[in-house]
Amino acid sequence: MRLRQRRSDVLYEKARYLVQSGRVEPLGNGVYNVVGEHGTYTVAQDPATGKLSCNCQGFLGKRRCSHSQAVALLTAKHHKSH
Ligand SMILES: [Zn+2]
Repeated sequence: MRLRQRRSDVLYEKARYLVQSGRVEPLGNGVYNVVGEHGTYTVAQDPATGKLSCNCQGFLGKRRCSHSQAVALLTAKHHKSH
């Protein structure tokens, strides 16, 4: 049996790993430092829309990446704990 992972699942797993290994550092004001495999990236949350943006190549091309996904996971966690 073959299990094929979809691209979005890989992204999610990467994001979970980033959160669990403490590579997401909140800088305040909706800005986060994310230490990725290839460098440190800045993820910012738009206060009006809540949308996340990242300055890595992946996000520029595909409008999504493991860094912004990691921040999404982290902020979701915070909301649940309240
Ligand atoms: Zn990114």
